[in-house]
Amino acid sequence: MSTTFASFGLAEPILRAVDELGYREPTPIQAQAIPIVMQGRDVMGAAQTGTGKTAGFALPILQRLMPHANASASPARHPVRALILAPTRELADQIHENVREYAKHTGLRSAVVFGGVDIRPQVAALRHGCEVLIATPGRLLDHMGQKTVSLAQAEILVLDEADRMLDMGFLPDIQRIIHALPERRQNLMFSATFSGEIRKLAEAFLNDPVLVEVARRNATADNVEQIVYRVADLESKRAAVAKLVRERQLSQVIVFTNTKIGAGRLARQLERDGLNAAAIHGDKTQQERLATLEAFKKGEIVVLVATDVAARGLDIVELPAVINYDLPYSAEDYVHRIGRTGRAGASGLALSLMVDNDERLLVEIEKLIKRKLPPERLDVGPAQERPRRERRDDEPAARGRASSSRRGDSAAERGGSPRRRRPEGEPAASRAAGYSRDPFFFEPYEPRPAEEGAAAAAPETPERAQGSARRPRRPVAALLGGGGRKS
Ligand code: AMP
Repeated sequence: MSTTFASFGLAEPILRAVDELGYREPTPIQAQAIPIVMQGRDVMGAAQTGTGKTAGFALPILQRLMPHANASASPARHPVRALILAPTRELADQIHENVREYAKHTGLRSAVVFGGVDIRPQVAALRHGCEVLIATPGRLLDHMGQKTVSLAQAEILVLDEADRMLDMGFLPDIQRIIHALPERRQNLMFSATFSGEIRKLAEAFLNDPVLVEVARRNATADNVEQIVYRVADLESKRAAVAKLVRERQLSQVIVFTNTKIGAGRLARQLERDGLNAAAIHGDKTQQERLATLEAFKKGEIVVLVATDVAARGLDIVELPAVINYDLPYSAEDYVHRIGRTGRAGASGLALSLMVDNDERLLVEIEKLIKRKLPPERLDVGPAQERPRRERRDDEPAARGRASSSRRGDSAAERGGSPRRRRPEGEPAASRAAGYSRDPFFFEPYEPRPAEEGAAAAAPETPERAQGSARRPRRPVAALLGGGGRKS
């Protein structure tokens, strides 16, 4: 007999929200985690984004906080009781969006704080009071320093994507935050991978945790078809992407590059080739990133070119395909990248491009996923290399380049277009047909000067992605007293 949400004993306002979201039955991680979190136990969760883990911790947290729900207007009656830390702005924002939905009938308040955006609206939100606070570590420390947040009544702490937070050098920040919390509290930690460092972190801060895990769908997932294409040279890669998108009729694809400058350049070139493409990376403003993500989810953008850091934690349901424009420097990133596709039982496609020089990277990937990926040759003849760009029916014959004022007119800056989730059963391709076009997304992407600079050519770093001036970091291994992974 399969579990139902009602069988957990969740309060009616929570069940109603879940029902309204169309969740019919709990995912495996939810079935395991919800009862344990409701009991107040610490949890070590082995699950990644896409498994439903957010509801797996958020629903029972809301349940535990229900006795504190009140309709008082006084902020003092709405102190932070649950703190959820996430590595990136996008993930923090998505968690918040989910929590807001789950909590909307409960009277419990939530707020989110992350770097790279004006701190003042966040201060106002914190002043208003929130029982659930979602935060990236750096910005939370800024608020703590400015005394715009109090964590004195926090009773639950969640570390989401803990492995990624360690990779990004957040350990010292996390430690400082943990020290500011009351000692008696429930701790939940989620991680997609289990390195020695993660185990040490778990030992250090979880109290007799229950391990909940769902089978990793990524490295061994049978439902992700993986193909590596060998192309003649770097120049052929862009044409290869365009060819693959067209020939395989991909309606929604994330293309991963190793550098920000590479992402921006590729998006512009694909646009010139007549594909609706946009880049998302750490040098973009938060508004730009969220607007681009929205447009991609709605099907207005077909090709989203992303760096690993920017793509981390993006909640895009049933992404049909990913393309590795560059093989990643770290084999683990390959696993994370292909984990974006083939979600929730849907079959996925992971295509990778390599040149002869990339042999070593491919060997590392094969070692990690314990599977051979014999490269196939992909020829991109001159004809495909620069396909003539056909004018779309609804497009004026001559079009100017996006101006900054135009850009300022983007959906996000107008206050955001209403979020539209894809109705169940509606394929991505059909969504692409009836969208309202925002000119911003159909102009060639214009980089800001910084993007073309030397720094932009370097692989993206978390500090840049977080967008705030950050403290120098000590190596994770030193803090954990072990021989950690070099980054
Ligand atoms: P997450 O792994 O938490 O990022 O969730 C991935 C996606 O699955 C999100 O879009 C959730 O809204 C959705 N989701 C979570 N739980 C369920 C469920 N039980 N049934 C259907 N969709 C779900």
